[in-house]
Amino acid sequence: MPLYHSSVYDRAFPVNSYWETTDAPIESDCPPLSEVQSCEVAIIGGGLTGLSTAWHLAREYGIRAAILEAGVPGWGASGRNGGFCCVGGTALRYPQLIQRFGRSETQRYYQEQREAIDLVRNLAEAEGLAIDPQGEGEILVAHHPSRQKALEADYAFFTEVAGYPCALWSPQKLSESGFSSPEAHAALKIGVGFGLNPIKYSRGLARAILQRGGKIHGQSPVIAWEKSGATHLLHTSGGSLHAKTVIVATNGYTDDRLHPNLNGRLLPALSQIITTRPLTLAEQAAQGWHTETPVSDTRNLLFYYRLLKDGRFLFGSRGGTWGSPTESQRHQTWMIRRLGELFPAWKGVEISHSWNGLVCLAADLMPHIGQFPQDPSVFYALAYHGNGVAAATWSGRSVARWVAGKMTQDDLCAVFRQPLQRFPLANLRKGYLRSAYLIYGLLDRSG
Ligand SMILES: Cc1cc2nc3c(=O)[nH]c(=O)nc-3n(C[C@H](O)[C@H](O)[C@H](O)COP(=O)(O)OP(=O)(O)OC[C@H]3O[C@@H](n4cnc5c(N)ncnc54)[C@H](O)[C@@H]3O)c2cc1C
Repeated sequence: MPLYHSSVYDRAFPVNSYWETTDAPIESDCPPLSEVQSCEVAIIGGGLTGLSTAWHLAREYGIRAAILEAGVPGWGASGRNGGFCCVGGTALRYPQLIQRFGRSETQRYYQEQREAIDLVRNLAEAEGLAIDPQGEGEILVAHHPSRQKALEADYAFFTEVAGYPCALWSPQKLSESGFSSPEAHAALKIGVGFGLNPIKYSRGLARAILQRGGKIHGQSPVIAWEKSGATHLLHTSGGSLHAKTVIVATNGYTDDRLHPNLNGRLLPALSQIITTRPLTLAEQAAQGWHTETPVSDTRNLLFYYRLLKDGRFLFGSRGGTWGSPTESQRHQTWMIRRLGELFPAWKGVEISHSWNGLVCLAADLMPHIGQFPQDPSVFYALAYHGNGVAAATWSGRSVARWVAGKMTQDDLCAVFRQPLQRFPLANLRKGYLRSAYLIYGLLDRSG
C-alpha cells in the first residue's frame, strides 16, 4: 500500500505548480513503452537522478540507456521543487557526520556537495539549458534570537572545515543585503549555491538525452519486475523492457512493492510550496526585500523561500502527513497565514499556485548510492532528504561511472555508501514522521 493518498501518486491529477507554466510540454517526445524491447541499461524513474545517470552514460561512455518514467520526465520532485541548487543530501548535521565518519570524510562530503553545485552549472552550460539561475549562495536565517550562537558555530565549520566562503550577517547587514522580517534575527551567508527553475532544468536535461540518442518512455510505470537468467524483465502496461543492468531512481515515489530489496527502506515526506502573484518593486521594497539568493531558516521544520525572476515570491514548508486534497488545502491556508506573519507587508497578497510533492528520507538520514546485495546488476541512488537538486545530479553521475566500470563502491564518500537499512517496524513509518513533526514543532516554537 502506498503511504499517502492516491492523488499524490496519480500522474493524471494536476500538479498545479507555477513551474509548469514556464516550459513547453514534453509528453509527445517521450512515448510510452510498447511491445518487448531490449537495452543495455534500464533506468526506473525520470527525475534528476535518472536523467543525470542517462546523460552521463551517453555523453561520457557512449552507453545509451532507456528510462521508464511513470509520468513525464521531471514529474516527481525534480520538476516541482523550490529550485534551491544548494548544499544538501543528508538530514544529519555536521557534528553528527564528524562523530560518525571523522573530520576528513565529512570535509570530503562538503567538498563534493560544492562540486555537485558546479556540476549543475557546468552541465546546463554544456547543453545550453536555460535554467534561469538566480542569486549567489544561500542565506540561512536565525528564526529566533537564540539561534544566533548556532549560526556562529555553523560559520566556524563552513569556513574552517568545509572551506566555503561564508559571512555572518548582523540583523542590520541582513536588512541591508537581504530582507527584513520579524522572524529573521541575523544570518549566515553561505557563498555556495544558487536558485534555478527546476522544470526547465529537468526537461532540458531530458531533451539533451533524447538528442544524444537516449530513450525516455513516459507514462510507463514499472508494475512488475522479474529476472530470467541474467536478464531483468521490467513490465509496464504497454510493454516490457529487457536489460542486463537496472538503475532504480524512484526516490520518494518508490512503491514498496517495486522490489523486495527496497520494501520498508524509504520514508517519503510531503513538502509544500505556494507562490504569490508577481510583486511590484514597490511591494518588494515595502518588505525591505532586495535579494535573489535562496533563503532558508534555522527551524527544524524549516521555511524556505526566494524571489523568482518575475517578482513572484516562492514560500515552502513541510507538507501534511496524509496528502489528500483537503489536507493540502488546509495546509495551504496555514502557509498563507505564516507567510503574512513572516512578511507583514505581503499579508493577504494573492496566491497564484500551490502544490506539494514527496521528498525521501532513509532510516539513517543519509543519502544512498549502492548496489543490491544479492544482485550487483541493480544500482540505486536516492534519499536526499529534501535537498536533491545538486545531490541527485551528482549521484546520477556517480552511478553512471560505476555502471561504466570507471569506479567502485569504495570510491564513494562514506556518507553515501552505507547499506540501505529497513526501518524498524516499517509499517509505523508515518507514525515516526508525525512524532518527529510534533517534537520539532515544539522545539521550533521555543526558540
Ligand atoms: C515540494 C518540494 C520542494 C523541494 N525543494 C527542493 C529544493 O529547493 N532544493 C533541493 O535541492 N531539493 C528540493 N527538493 C527535493 C528534490 O526535488 C529531490 O531530492 C530530487 O528532485 C530527487 O530527484 P529524483 O530523480 O531522485 O526523484 P524524483 O524527481 O522524485 O523522481 C522519481 C521519479 O520516479 C518515477 N517513478 C516512481 N516509481 C516508478 C515506477 N514504478 N516506474 C516508473 N517510474 C517511476 C516518478 O514518477 C518520478 O518522476 C524538493 C522536493 C519537493 C517535493
